[in-house]
Amino acid sequence: MKITILGSGTNLHPRRAAAGYLIQTDFPFLIDFGPRTLTNLLKTGLNRHQLQHFLFTHYHADHFSDFITFYFDAVCHARYVANRPDMTIIGPKGTKKLFGSIMKTFPAFDKPPFRVTLKEIAARTFSLGNTRIIPRTMTHTSQQTCLGYRVEYQGRSFVYSGDACYSSNLVRLCQDVDLAVLDCSFPSNRPGAAHMHAEDCGRVAKEAEIKRLILSHFYPVADQFNVKKQAARNFSGQINLARDLMTVQW
Ligand SMILES: [Zn+2]
Ligand SMILES: [Zn+2]
Repeated sequence: MKITILGSGTNLHPRRAAAGYLIQTDFPFLIDFGPRTLTNLLKTGLNRHQLQHFLFTHYHADHFSDFITFYFDAVCHARYVANRPDMTIIGPKGTKKLFGSIMKTFPAFDKPPFRVTLKEIAARTFSLGNTRIIPRTMTHTSQQTCLGYRVEYQGRSFVYSGDACYSSNLVRLCQDVDLAVLDCSFPSNRPGAAHMHAEDCGRVAKEAEIKRLILSHFYPVADQFNVKKQAARNFSGQINLARDLMTVQW
C-alpha cells in the first residue's frame, strides 16, 4: 500500500494544499480532492486519465473543489484526445445531488464520453477490486455527514479521519491500524470547533493502539506551535507531521 499526501492544509493556507490523498493498492484512487491538490497530483507523475475512483469524506469546499478542474480536463481529454475509463464517485448522502447539479450546470460537463456513477454510501463496508473499504460516520458539523475511511489491502491498513472531532466511532475505525492520518486542525492551546486538536489526535492514537500517526489538515495556526509534541503527551508511538507530497509505502 502506498499513500501520497496531496494536501496537508485547509481551504486557505499559504504553503499547504487543502485535503487530498492518493492511495495506491491494486489500483490508484483518491480520497478527497481539495483546492491545490490537483497540482500536487500532477507532480506525482501518475497518469490522471487512469484514475477511476474518487472517494469523498464530505463536501466542505476544502475537500472537493479541485474535482471540478480535474473533471473539465477529463471531459475535454476524452472528447478530443483519447478515451478514458469510466468514473465512480463515492461519498456520503448528498453526493448525488451535489455532483448531479455540478454536471448539469457547468458548461461542457453534461454527456461526457465516459460513464459516471455516483454512489452514496452509509457506514457499510465494501470492496473495490481486492481493496476493502470501511466508511464510518465522524462527528464534524450538523449540516452534513462526514465519513472517515479505513482502507485494508493485503494485510495492511490505513485510516483517514476526514474532518473529525474525537469520537468513539473514530477510535473504533482506527483500532490497531498501521497508519492513521488524522485531522489536526488546531494546536491544543488554540482549539477550535468541529475539528480535533493535537492532543485529541494523540488520544485517538493511544486508545486505538495504532502503529503510526500522521497529523494533517493544518490550519495556519497549527504551524505556529509544536503539535507533534502536544500529540505525544497522549501517544508514545511514531508521530509525523504531514507535508504535501509526502509518501508512505509499506
Ligand atoms: Zn469540513
Ligand atoms: Zn476540512
